Amino acid sequence: MTEIVRKITHRGILHAAAAATLEMQAVSVAYAAGSNSKTTNRGTQYALEAVSFQAYAGERIAIVGPNGAGKSTLLKLIVGTLKPSSGEVTVYGHGPVGHICIAYVPQRSQIDWSFPVTVQDVVMMGRVGQIGLLRWPRRHDWELVKQSLARVNASHLANKQIGELSGGQQQRVFIARALAQEAELLLLDEPLTGLDMPSQDAIFTVLDGLRSDNVTVLVATHDLNLAADRFDKVMMLNRKIVAFGTATAVLTSENLLACYGGHVHRISDDGALLLADDCCYHGEER
Ligand code: ADP
Repeated sequence: MTEIVRKITHRGILHAAAAATLEMQAVSVAYAAGSNSKTTNRGTQYALEAVSFQAYAGERIAIVGPNGAGKSTLLKLIVGTLKPSSGEVTVYGHGPVGHICIAYVPQRSQIDWSFPVTVQDVVMMGRVGQIGLLRWPRRHDWELVKQSLARVNASHLANKQIGELSGGQQQRVFIARALAQEAELLLLDEPLTGLDMPSQDAIFTVLDGLRSDNVTVLVATHDLNLAADRFDKVMMLNRKIVAFGTATAVLTSENLLACYGGHVHRISDDGALLLADDCCYHGEER
């Protein structure tokens, strides 16, 4: 079958013209035996099971679910650092490995903030895929770094050490790195955790700006209120997809009960306000 492709000159991987930005087809993940494999006398248990969905250019999707639901696992599959046990992940019609259009910001706890590197160097790291490892950045690359920092309102931080920044500033710098990378798919794992309201707002202002560039954004979050208010779609996950669609369609009492058990309560009928409390809940017993 002849594949129709659109050549993206500055990308290593060809993007299939008609393909969804992101697609998962019947994806399951069982972690290796001995780690935390969930292989019990009840048979293999999966971190993710039969997950299928599509995401399109410019969509902003919240991934919600209790601790251990598989949110981080899902993001790692997309970025290609983890392979599915079965099923298929495609980005613009091709497997995720090798795409330089995917930017991933892991949870804050996964990053070594004491690493001695300046903010502008962190943002320049986003250019490595375009420049190549053994080449020096050119004027165009530095210009992009400058523009990216300006877009997240962090120009004044360019020469600071990354470890000196507040949590909100650090998240904005990592988004600037994705901008410098010219990412088309941005994956953020719990970027809002621990941030105050102004810092959260600042991040959403930046994400709003990405819509005009058609960047697809997936955000793993525990905050159901933000998921309801600030995203086009919500994926409710608990090992399997419980529901996927608009916040109104997904954040129903039935779905919340199915996903979180009795640990999330709806405290207004219009769906505007939800109270999440999953501090003691770690998903279904496996
Ligand atoms: P979430 O991000 O929703 O909290 P995770 O994706 O981190 O969930 O984890 C999903 C499940 O996979 C959990 O049961 C977790 O213990 C397990 N898991 C995550 N990472 C590993 C790993 N490296 N090895 C083994 N099991 C893991």
